[in-house]
Amino acid sequence: MKMQKSFLGTLFVSAVLLGTSCAVPSARKTQTTAPATKTVGVSSPELVDVEPPSVLAELPTDVQPDPPSPVPAADQPAVDHALKTVRVLLADNQSSAKIEHSGRIYVYTQNLDKTYKVSSAGALSVRFAGNGRVQVGSLKSEKPIIIEPAKDTLLTWNNNLYAGKIVVVPAQHTFILVEHVDLENYLYGVLPYEMSYSWPLEALKAQAVAARTYTLRTLENVKNQHFDLYSDVRSQMYKGGGKQYPSVKQAVDATKSKVLTYNDKLFYTYYHGNCGGGTDDVKSWNHGSKTIKPLSGASCAYDKHSKSYSFKQDIPYAKVSTFVHNAGLAGSVKSVGVAQRTSTGRATLLTVRTNKGHKNFSCNKFRLATGLRSCKLTKLQLSGSTLHAAGHGYGHGIGMCQDGANGMAKAGKTYEQILANYYPGSKLTTLKK
Ligand SMILES: [Zn+2]
Repeated sequence: MKMQKSFLGTLFVSAVLLGTSCAVPSARKTQTTAPATKTVGVSSPELVDVEPPSVLAELPTDVQPDPPSPVPAADQPAVDHALKTVRVLLADNQSSAKIEHSGRIYVYTQNLDKTYKVSSAGALSVRFAGNGRVQVGSLKSEKPIIIEPAKDTLLTWNNNLYAGKIVVVPAQHTFILVEHVDLENYLYGVLPYEMSYSWPLEALKAQAVAARTYTLRTLENVKNQHFDLYSDVRSQMYKGGGKQYPSVKQAVDATKSKVLTYNDKLFYTYYHGNCGGGTDDVKSWNHGSKTIKPLSGASCAYDKHSKSYSFKQDIPYAKVSTFVHNAGLAGSVKSVGVAQRTSTGRATLLTVRTNKGHKNFSCNKFRLATGLRSCKLTKLQLSGSTLHAAGHGYGHGIGMCQDGANGMAKAGKTYEQILANYYPGSKLTTLKK
């Protein structure tokens, strides 16, 4: 999970602590790659401007059996608690898109002044139509256009399946696509991309609670008018909740409405791939930040089985040099070394020396910029055109260690025990309806 400036506010501040990437979940690739989702509907790969023949002849909006549901006002983060709608940015800067639908859909503007429906499976062409307008099928508007699937209809965009509404929002010379989806359905589309769906159920349940809590905490600080979350590492990886893996569905459903709190408040339940034998205090990433007990570090005795526990890595000089120059130190890089570590051995500061001077940098920022797997380093040596690195873990090392959660589940621990270990002092709470 990782974030961006338009989120600003506390969310951004917190994210920055860890660097854009960690904000949350690890950017790790899941060990089991999820199978490609099937494309629903039209088989033609061409962008056809569909003028749905059934559109205009259908029943008027007010007597449709499945009328469009209200769209939450842009500045109003929807309903409370478990059935909250989350608004996920699927894509920005789009000039055209094809959205397929497996069955009936409704297409309408936010104020319902223009509306139509399509009764059978097909594909909609979406495009920027000039003068600040977007066009979806036959409907053009300078206001957002909503594509709402009827019950049991799924939308497909970019080979991913979505169960929520897709909102096409005009931007200056392009448009953005935002899905409005129920929180629990959103989690179906997060889990398989943040943790392998083949892992034990208790690990998946722990991940479900962490992802749910992170999401709801994020929603407390949304600043963007049109969306709450990104669908990539800036928030949490998300590829649509229309494709449901049985293990994931089971984990999400079994923990429905369950979140972690500390002092009766939600907190950012960061997680990462592998901590290398122990997690760290969130404060170690930003000395000015406030820490809380659940994010103060935890022991981890269950992650050594993973190939991510140890690493050796060669980083090209060019990546190091680009980072250093962008961060304000000129000259050719002569050495990179660890200047400061936490008690677990995780580097917090690196010193870079060039022929023009030297400067300390946050190891977390260096990691995100260069692709270094972890700052829990045992070796960092510049030799010729390569920076040789070795160490333990993968990711930022704050909050839940996913490999450790897997290991604990395999050792027979419950998801409650897993969460209690990685978020010490937190309370598993069920949201009221
Ligand atoms: Zn660990």
